[in-house]
Amino acid sequence: MRITALAGGIGGARFLRGLLHHLDSVPTDGTPHEVTVVGNTADDVTLHGLRVCPDLDTVMYTLGGGIHEGQGWGREDERFTVAEELAAYGQGPDWFTLGDRDIATHVVRTRLLGQGMPLSEVTAALCDRWKPGVRLLPMSDDRVETHVVVDDEDAEGGRRAIHFQEWWVRLHAAVPARQILAVGIEQARPAPGVLEALREADVVLLPPSNPVVSIGTILGVPGVRDALRGTRAPVVGVSPIVGGAPVRGMADACLTAIGVETSAAAVAGLYADFLDGWLVDTSDDGTVPTGGDRPAVRAVPLLMTDVAAAGAIAGAALDLAAGLTSPVA
Ligand code: GDP
Ligand code: CA
Repeated sequence: MRITALAGGIGGARFLRGLLHHLDSVPTDGTPHEVTVVGNTADDVTLHGLRVCPDLDTVMYTLGGGIHEGQGWGREDERFTVAEELAAYGQGPDWFTLGDRDIATHVVRTRLLGQGMPLSEVTAALCDRWKPGVRLLPMSDDRVETHVVVDDEDAEGGRRAIHFQEWWVRLHAAVPARQILAVGIEQARPAPGVLEALREADVVLLPPSNPVVSIGTILGVPGVRDALRGTRAPVVGVSPIVGGAPVRGMADACLTAIGVETSAAAVAGLYADFLDGWLVDTSDDGTVPTGGDRPAVRAVPLLMTDVAAAGAIAGAALDLAAGLTSPVA
C-alpha cells in the first residue's frame, strides 16, 4: 500500500506515528507499505542566521524518536546553553528559543542549503540520521512564508504584516488576524516527487493538522490541489476540530481569520472539491451533512492520547478509505 499524507507539525506528526504503528500490524503482500509525507514549510523562519523548519522537524523528531514528548516539538533531553549566551549578547528574539541539540539540526540544514542543496535533499540528508520510516518531502523547495496581518495603529494604514511565528508564538494568536497570507506561494513549485506521490498513491490521508496554516498552505502550492482532485486514490481526512474547538493550539483563530466556523463540518467544507472520506469525533457524530457528492463520514474517538489511540484513528481512516475504493476495484 502506498500512502501519501499532508502534514503540519504536532497534529500531523502524532497522527503519522500512529499510522506507522498501525501499519506494523497490517499484513503486506510482500512489498512493504510506503508512506510519503508532504510537509508544510510556510512556518519556516530564519533565526540567528539559521534556517528553522518547525513542521518538518516535528515530523522528523516524532517519527525518529527524538521528540520532546510533553511539548510535542523540539528535542527531548534538551539544554539551552546557546540560547543563554545569545541572550547575554542581547540577541533576540527572546520569544523563540532554540535548544542546543535542535540548533545542530539547523546548523546542518543551513550549511547544506548554503552549498546550494535544495530543501528536499537537505531534508533527506537529515532523515538519514533520524530514519523516520516515511519519505519526508517539503511541500516545495521554494520559499513560502505565512504572514499574518494584524492591527497596528502606529503602522501606515493601521495594519502590519508579521511572520506567522511572531503571531503564533509571541502573540499566542490572541491578536485578531485580519488576513493570513502565504507569501511566495504563487511562484512556488511543488518539491520533486510531491505531485507524483499524490497521483500514484493508493490512499491519501489528511491528518488532523491545522486546516489553514498547515494543510491550507500545502494545498495552495500550485498543482497540489489539482493532483488531489485528479488522483484515483481515495482522499480521507481526520478532523482537527473536536466539539467545536481545536484539540490543542489556536486553529480557531486561523479559521476565524478566513471567515470559517470552527467545526468539523466547516473544515470538511474547505476540502469539499477533493475529499472522499471524513473522520469526525464521536461527539460530532451527525453534525456533518452527508449524501450526494459529499464525503462519507464516520465518527470515532479522535483524541490522540497515546500512540495506540493515534494508531486506531489511522486504522479507521484506512478502513474508511478501503470502503470507498471497493466499488471501483
Ligand atoms: P502544528 O504545525 O504544530 O500547529 O501542528 P499541525 O498543524 O500538524 O496540527 C495542529 C492541529 O492538530 C491543531 O489544530 C489541533 O486541533 C490538532 N490536534 C492536536 N492534537 C489532536 C488530537 O489529539 N486529535 C485531533 N483530532 N486533533 C488534534
Ligand atoms: Ca506548524
